[in-house]
Amino acid sequence: MKKVIPSFILLILILCACSPSSYSYSDDFFAMDTYMTLTANGVDAEIAVKKAEKEVQRLEGLLSAHDKKSEVYKLNKKGSGKLSDDTLAVLKKAIEYNKLTNGTLNPTMLQITELWGFPSGNYRVPEKSEISDALNLARPDKISIKNNEVEFKTDGIKVDLGAIAKGYTSSKIVEIFKKNGIESGIINLGGNVQTLGTKPDGSLWTVAIENPDEGGDYLGALKVKDKAVVTSGGYERNFTKGGKTYHHILNPENGYPAESGLSSVTVVCDDGTLSDALSTSLFVMGKNKAVKFYKESDKDFDIILYTNDGKLYVSQGIADNFNSQLNFEIIKKD
Ligand code: ADP
Ligand code: MG
Repeated sequence: MKKVIPSFILLILILCACSPSSYSYSDDFFAMDTYMTLTANGVDAEIAVKKAEKEVQRLEGLLSAHDKKSEVYKLNKKGSGKLSDDTLAVLKKAIEYNKLTNGTLNPTMLQITELWGFPSGNYRVPEKSEISDALNLARPDKISIKNNEVEFKTDGIKVDLGAIAKGYTSSKIVEIFKKNGIESGIINLGGNVQTLGTKPDGSLWTVAIENPDEGGDYLGALKVKDKAVVTSGGYERNFTKGGKTYHHILNPENGYPAESGLSSVTVVCDDGTLSDALSTSLFVMGKNKAVKFYKESDKDFDIILYTNDGKLYVSQGIADNFNSQLNFEIIKKD
């Protein structure tokens, strides 16, 4: 017995030193056209992050509209095809959210984005006639889906899942983290933040929301647990010509960069894909329609809106967990 007690104590000491919360692993890499950082806390943190990184590359290889080997690229070229479960899931979500958001999220505007030169960087202001021709092809209702088979009912439709691909990817990363026993982590896919659980010490994660007016400064800091926090803004990708700035979030009604009076929209919810879809579409809607949408929607989400004239609005569900130097108005559900 004498020997058993010290070795038992030793075992406790070893277990304490190696408690799951003391393992943390983080990695930065570039994918999906943005810088990503994945952090996991737990015994298998490194394994989980590495598997998640592979998953990001796999999903990019399926969902990119520009990679000639991707499923989306091939579908766009051929106008029909059999899709993998992931690509199909994202396409179906995009079509569902097109309806949910009254068309403000439109996953068939690739032709128009290409006219503006957003993917390639060969920026230009297209002719009105070019835009109206391309708008005729922005028709998600002309996509037919039967099982895994997809067919465009109008020639020339091109799908762009860029507005929700990162949100979907962050949800898949959370699945991988969980499968590997990770209960605490934070994923940043260039403006798409997804949190898992709490910090290892049990406190909430803090997500800083960028201030589009002041590079490097913040609109505020939000404390969350198990939430996706996704921000869309015209400041992220744009070019200036003739003194006017044109950004990458387009209004599907006219094919021009959305000028809705908002400069940034953050959506907070459990589901990464929905957060990503809503941040893009509420940006297109503008403050009044976005607030109306928030109030009337039966989906569970919260919003932070920042207008071009510097007004900040925060919905009631997150207001108590949002800290800011700026004054903000609380948006209530009713
Ligand atoms: P980011 O990808 O920069 O984080 P978003 O999630 O808002 O920003 O997605 C913007 C991307 O989605 C654009 O780069 C373009 O490919 C595509 N897009 C632009 N406008 C729309 C729109 N109204 N609906 C759907 N996709 C859009
Ligand atoms: Mg989005």
